[in-house]
Amino acid sequence: MSNTNYSFFQNVETSFDKAAKFTKWDKGLLEQIKACNSIYSMRFPVRMDDGRIEVIEAYRVQHSQHKTPCKGGIRFSDEVNQDEVMALASLMTYKCAIVNVPFGGGKGGIKINPRNYSVYELEKITRRYTSELVKKNFIGPGIDVPAPDYGTGEREMAWIVDTYASLKPGEIDAAGCVTGKPVTQGGVRGRKEATGLGVFYGIREVCNMPAVMEKLGLSVGIAGKKVVVQGLGNVGYHSAKFFREGGAIVVAIAEYEGAVFNAEGINEEALFQHRKATGSILNFPGAINLAKTGDALELECDILVPAALENVINKDNVPKVKAKIIAEAANGPLTPDADEILTAKNVLIVPDMYLNAGGVTVSYFEWLKNLSHVRYGRMEKRFTENMNAHILGQMENLTGKKVTDSERNFILHGADEVDLVHSGLEESMISATREIMDIWHANPEIPDMRTAAYVNAINKVATSYAELGIFP
Ligand code: GLU
Repeated sequence: MSNTNYSFFQNVETSFDKAAKFTKWDKGLLEQIKACNSIYSMRFPVRMDDGRIEVIEAYRVQHSQHKTPCKGGIRFSDEVNQDEVMALASLMTYKCAIVNVPFGGGKGGIKINPRNYSVYELEKITRRYTSELVKKNFIGPGIDVPAPDYGTGEREMAWIVDTYASLKPGEIDAAGCVTGKPVTQGGVRGRKEATGLGVFYGIREVCNMPAVMEKLGLSVGIAGKKVVVQGLGNVGYHSAKFFREGGAIVVAIAEYEGAVFNAEGINEEALFQHRKATGSILNFPGAINLAKTGDALELECDILVPAALENVINKDNVPKVKAKIIAEAANGPLTPDADEILTAKNVLIVPDMYLNAGGVTVSYFEWLKNLSHVRYGRMEKRFTENMNAHILGQMENLTGKKVTDSERNFILHGADEVDLVHSGLEESMISATREIMDIWHANPEIPDMRTAAYVNAINKVATSYAELGIFP
């Protein structure tokens, strides 16, 4: 899906430079912020099930250590290359700064298509990659903390933590060496849906801003908005789910084999089950097939959510894009030229490194849980419930009235881990949206939301360098 004519890292640099003009920082400091600090390119052999030895190409890039640890996912994809991993690591630095997550940016990639390997082969590749990172001190709860990304998930994170812990016996915080783990292996409830939920919270906040909606000719709120989602992976699936639950109509969903359209709306879970049973999203009952995945990007809709790979909207297909809002759930789904053309057409592009920051925000919560060795809510849940029961009892006595059973359950409920994680995520996304919009609207020269997001990120990263005293 990605278009290799573009250097993704250069695209990120272009966006950075565009925003840097609106800041007051020293040129040298800006250069330091932009640069990737450490790049580890590796090759290692793995014996496949048929006895063959395959040389695996893999990377880990640490873009910035202005805050530690470095943080960012690991992707498994045929398209992985050093330029891509560098770009994605840079986006992680800016992303973390925007949502006030105190990490530097990092990213990893293994150049394989996971569909072409058995589970056993994938396990061997992942474990070997982890031990290579350990050998070079490129992983650890205080050094660099990977997470899931395109082509990886909880299973791979479980292999990583197990390999790390076995190589570091007695390291009490070992569970914090990676996030996105299964809950049984030190994961946090709410991590899996976090990126999709963050995309929803961010777009909902934008749609609740009357002045922004007026400029786009759209009504305020999410309800009734037509949404197209590209990608039915973890991010696309959960974005579709939360938009549907929030009252939007998900009219089309695309995957690499094609797309399906239904003006009445598509249920992502039913489509997921259909794909599991038939091997394809096509021929979904009640929906029309679109032959090419790219066709979905050109549909009439209010919100287009590219949730797959980078560069999917480029100068070739951009004239046909009709969405009013583009929600960049994926990293870098627009090339800079496509971005400029759409901005000139008054399309609102809600940028990746802020909009898809939900994943890393909840990763931060998971890492904190690992370091504190206690589940969120464990200490206060019962106390809150007892206190709520006491307050409610007093109110009922004083008024002589009783609330209904369902009201009682709602009022008494003390927060579980997932409640706290969702609420922390909602707060992070809402305040990030407002900060970026305030920067954008305070300076009429700033051309778009992406530039405003970069200005915000640059100011925060530069301030922490300045606070370190390196650049007084
Ligand atoms: N891979 C995700 C991203 O690109 C999550 C990173 C993380 O949780 O560290 O933001």
